[in-house]
Order: sequence, then C-alpha cells, then structure tokens
Amino acid sequence: MYLVLSPDLYILTASDLYLEAIESTREVIKGKHIFEAFPDNPELPDADGVQNINTSLQTVLRTKKIHYMPVQRYDVPDRNNPGKFIQRYWDPSHTPVLDDEGNISYIIQLATNVTDKIRAEQALLKSHREQAETTEQIKDLNNELIATNIQLREAQQQLSLLNGQLEQRVAIRTRELAQANEEQAAVNEEMVATNEELTEIQEHLEQTNRELAASASRLRLAVESTGLGTWEYVPDTGELYWSKECRDIFGIERYQPLDFGTYNRQIHPEDHDWVTAHINTCLKPGIEGGYELSHRIIRLNNGEVRWVKAQGTVEFENEVPMRFLGTVLDITGLKQVEEQSARLAAIITSSDDAIISKTLESVIMSWNDAAQRMFGYTADEMIGETMYKLIPTDRQEEEPMILSRLKRGERVEHFETKRQAKDGRLIDVSLTISPINDNKGNIIGVSNIARDISERKQDEARKNDFIGMVSHELKTPLTSLSAILQVLNTKLKRSKDGFVPEALNRANQQVKKMSTMINGFLNISRLESGKIQIDKQAFIIGDLIKEVIAEISLTGVAHIIELQSCDNVVIHADREKIFSVLTNLLSNAVKYSPKGSNVLINCNQQDGKVLVSVSDEGLGIRPEDRDHIFDRYYRVESSRTRHISGFGIGLYLSAEIIQRHDGEIWVDSKSGKGSTFYFSLPLQP
Ligand code: ADP
Repeated sequence: MYLVLSPDLYILTASDLYLEAIESTREVIKGKHIFEAFPDNPELPDADGVQNINTSLQTVLRTKKIHYMPVQRYDVPDRNNPGKFIQRYWDPSHTPVLDDEGNISYIIQLATNVTDKIRAEQALLKSHREQAETTEQIKDLNNELIATNIQLREAQQQLSLLNGQLEQRVAIRTRELAQANEEQAAVNEEMVATNEELTEIQEHLEQTNRELAASASRLRLAVESTGLGTWEYVPDTGELYWSKECRDIFGIERYQPLDFGTYNRQIHPEDHDWVTAHINTCLKPGIEGGYELSHRIIRLNNGEVRWVKAQGTVEFENEVPMRFLGTVLDITGLKQVEEQSARLAAIITSSDDAIISKTLESVIMSWNDAAQRMFGYTADEMIGETMYKLIPTDRQEEEPMILSRLKRGERVEHFETKRQAKDGRLIDVSLTISPINDNKGNIIGVSNIARDISERKQDEARKNDFIGMVSHELKTPLTSLSAILQVLNTKLKRSKDGFVPEALNRANQQVKKMSTMINGFLNISRLESGKIQIDKQAFIIGDLIKEVIAEISLTGVAHIIELQSCDNVVIHADREKIFSVLTNLLSNAVKYSPKGSNVLINCNQQDGKVLVSVSDEGLGIRPEDRDHIFDRYYRVESSRTRHISGFGIGLYLSAEIIQRHDGEIWVDSKSGKGSTFYFSLPLQP
C-alpha cells in the first residue's frame, strides 16, 4: 500500500491496495493536498493524525531519510456518508525518493491498514480487562461468600446452640410430661384396680349372698333328708320346741305332750347318768361350748333301743342361761355298720392269711398284720406302694393278667405262685383275689388274700421225692421180673399144661399194668420237680392212635374199640407223651365202662387244630366231680368206682402234657350215660 506525494505534499498517486484501504478512488484524492484529502476526524477532539504525519513528513523533508511512525489512529472520510469518518489504524513510514542532485523528488508513504488487528487487540484488551474485572468481581464475590459463609457458620453455631438449648428444654419438658403422664396412668390404674376390686367385692358379696341362700335351702333339705331332729328351749318363758324329726326319733306322736324332762326320761338307763351329768355341766355359766354325745335312747312308742348323736349349746346372758338348743340324729344304722366293720377289722387283723386291698391300678390301700408277718413290710411301708413290690422279677406279668381277669368280673381262686418278702425270701403263696364292688356293682378295688403254702409245698416236694425214689426202686425189680417172665414164656410156650401159658400171659399183663403205674408216679415226680421235658417231632396222629388201640387190645379188653374217623394230620408234639395221654384216655374208657360196650375215637382237623375225642358208654361223671378229675390224686368216690383200681394221676398227667403243648383238654359227660374226653393240639408248631 503506498501513496506518492510531491515534496510540497500533494498527492500524486496511490496504489490500488491503498485506495481499497481508504475506500476511495484515485480521482477523488489525486492532486489534493494530503491534509485536504485526509483531515482529522472532527468527532474525535483529541485526534492528532494530521499533526503526527506532518511532523514525520517535515522530518523526512529536512533529513531526507526514511521515517517510521508508530501505529496511529487516522480515520478516513466516509465517501458514502459525507462528514462521517471510517475508523482506521495505520503503521505509516515516509520514504524520500531523491533525484541525482540529492533533492527530494517524491515522498512515498507506505502504510498498512492495521485497523482489524488493532481492533482485535483492543477487543482482546477489553476482554482482558473485562476478565480481570470479572475475576476481581468473582474475587470480591468470593470474599463476600466467604464472609457470608463465616456469618452463616456463626449463625449456624448460634442456631445449633439455640437448638441444643431448645432440645434440652424440650427433653426436660417431655420428661416432665411423661412423668406427669405416668403419674396420671398410675392414678388411672389404681382407680381401675380399685374399681375392679369394688366390682369383685360386689360380685363376691352377691355370690356370698347367693351361696348363703343356697346353703340355707341346702341345710333345710339336708336337715329334712338326714332326719336331723332339732329342738329349742327358753327357760325364762318355758317355751319348748321339738321338730317333727325329733319326735320321730324319740317315737313321740304329735298329740303327745312334751316338757323339758321328756328327753331325759327317754335316755337309756345304762347311759342316763353320764349323759345327764354332761348336759348339766353345760348349763353352768362360765363353761364355754356345748356337748356332743352318742348314746342310746328308748323310743316311747315301741320301746325300741336306738343310738342317737346329740349336740347342744346354751346361750347365756349375764351368766343366766337364756336359750338352750340342740340337734338329735338317729345313728343306729351307723353304729351297726361301725360294729360290723369293727368285727370285720378284728377278723382281718387276726387272720393268718395276708389280706391286702388294692386299687385296680395295683396300689395297696390296706395291709393287715398277717401281711406284715408274711412279707416283713409294715403297713406304713406298703400302703401307697404297688403290688409289684412283692412280685418276683420273673413273675411280674402275673399282675396285669390277674387284674384283667378281675376287670372282667372274674375271681381268681387258689392261684399258686411265689411272692418275695422284704428280706428277699421267696414264699410259696396261694392267692384268692376278688373284686370289691360298690353298692351299684361297680368294681372299686380288689381284695387279695395270700396264704403261705410254703410248708405244704415243702411237704409236697418231700412226698414227690419219696414217690420218685420208690417208683425208681420198684422199677428195677419189675424190669427183672418182666425179663424173667419173657424167658419163662419162651421156655414154657409149648408146655402141655394149658394153664402155664395162660398164667404167663396174665402175669405179663399185670407186670405191664404195674409198670404203667410206676411210670405214672415217676412222671408225676418229674413233673412236680420241673424235670419233665417236651421233645417235639412231626408225626401222623392217626398212626399214633392206631398204635395205642393195638396196644390196649393186646391187654385182652372185652370192648369194641373203633377209630371212627381220622383226618390225615401231621402234628408236631412229643410222640411218647401224647402216646401216654391217649393210652390213659383209652384205658380209662375201658376201665370205667361195661365189658362189650363201644369205645369210639375220632380225630378231626378244625380251626388250625387237631381235635381228638374218646367216647365211652360207661359210668359217666357227675358235674361236681367234673371240675376235679384233672386234679392230682383226684378219684371219684362212689360205690361203683370203689373196686376199680387207680391213683388219680392219669388225667392230671394228661392235662399237664396237653397244656405243655399249648393245647386244651376237657370232658363232656352224663352220669350213667358215658363220657367223651377231648383234647386239642395246635397244628402250627
Ligand atoms: P385213675 O383212673 O387212676 O383213678 P385218672 O386220673 O385217670 O385216675 O382219673 C381220675 C378219675 O376220673 C377216676 O378216678 C374216675 O373216677 C374218673 N374217670 C376218668 N375217666 C373216666 C371215664 N372214662 N368214665 C368215668 N369216669 C372216669
């Protein structure tokens, strides 16, 4: 950008860029004085462009050297708005162009339009300033904020202080209120409690009133129903009252007159003196209380002696008897019961048998002297205990069994067992246990009578031992005898004398009979001493029956023995022992029935059992004997059986054997018509 000036400062020309910068044309400025073309902006009072340019130009004219100027504001006239200027910044320099003689031909003004740069700088500066200002403001604000903050904090502290105080105050107040509340509640509670108590008392009162009324009517009823007689006497007026019951007790009719002495006159002569003495004592002042006596009276109407319980009291006023009243109750029935129970108690006390009563739960309620003697425990030690205390460990199951039988209403009689005494001794006892019933028939307890049978048991044991020993000793010669008979039999079989074989045969039969008897005794002794053993095996019962029939038939019986029916049943049992049961039943059938009569045998299977029956047409058995024929040594006593030999052990042994097989044995019989003996054995081993 350049402008060419003449030495007298007229514009010769300008470059295009220059013209562009001043927004003008060459024609407008050419030939004009520089300051005419470019005057100062009159709107800027302190504009110094003309002055500065002129100074620079004068410097160049004088020194003829190039002169640089600092950046200047030098606004240019706005061609489109006359009188107005466009803001411009320049960095002008003036360069002289010299001619050959060294004189100035032209001056070239070089300039760059730096307006935008300056403006940008100014804007930047301004923004810097503004920023600084803003920063300053922010700082101020910050300071203000800090100050406010501090104030706030202070205010907060004060507030929290206040708050604390407030809270404290509130807490105190709350506590006070709560306390007040509690007190109020307590008062309330007390009031409620008092109220409740009052209600309760009222209810109680009402209840008591009701009870009083009830008991009054009950008393009236009781008096009427018990027949309690009441009487009253007022000595002052001589007034005398006897209730109807009182008259009834004394046998005095309604129309018969009464006086104070009536009572005394009716007292039994044997009781009269001591009773009246007692009553008179009560009439003396200063003696507290009345009398209560039991004595006899004699009824007026029929002279009957009755027992009465008499009670009486005297009411005094200033030591003077004012009212005399009392009751009389006929206790004759009670006295009789008392006497009876005293008699019974005496019997129980003096009994040699232990008599113990217990509940259905086996709790002992009474214990007599004999029980103490027998078992060593005192009544104090045993009452309240259970019977189990007396039962040895291996027999404990007996008690529930006995109790269940009792509950069914059965009585257990002569149950032989063992009980244990206090010193540990085992005692053989026979128990008879029966239910105790109330008057309605309900079982309310159990009576236990225990008899000490130790001695009897010892006797039996001794007897058994003796029988065992004798039988054993007898067996030896009998075996020899049997052997000799057999030898004789072979030797004399062919004897011409017909008597000999017959005699031998009979001798043999007798030996067999004897041997059966001895075996029976041996078995008994074994059984009693617990030495009998059951050796079971499987066999067909029918075969065994046939064997027995064959054996019996060998003894030359004159009866028709018939096996009527026989199921093919295998049983598990001791063959030898069942053999002896059958032998016994068959030989009895033969023994107790007339020659030539029928003996019928049946053997049937039913309900998991085999049932064997042996029927005869003989003597039969009377009902009273039927219950005993299975007892040891029991024989029916009659003119018809007297001549039939036996020891009463066959059925006893048979029953024992069958029982040991868990079977049953019984008899059906009609006296004079015959008997059927049955036994059953379970099929399952
Ligand atoms: P024993 O026959 O040796 O007397 P048992 O024990 O075999 O002994 O029999 C006991 C009693 O039963 C006999 O004394 C008899 O009176 C009676 N008795 C047994 N079997 C019969 C029967 N079949 N008929 C009638 N009475 C019998």
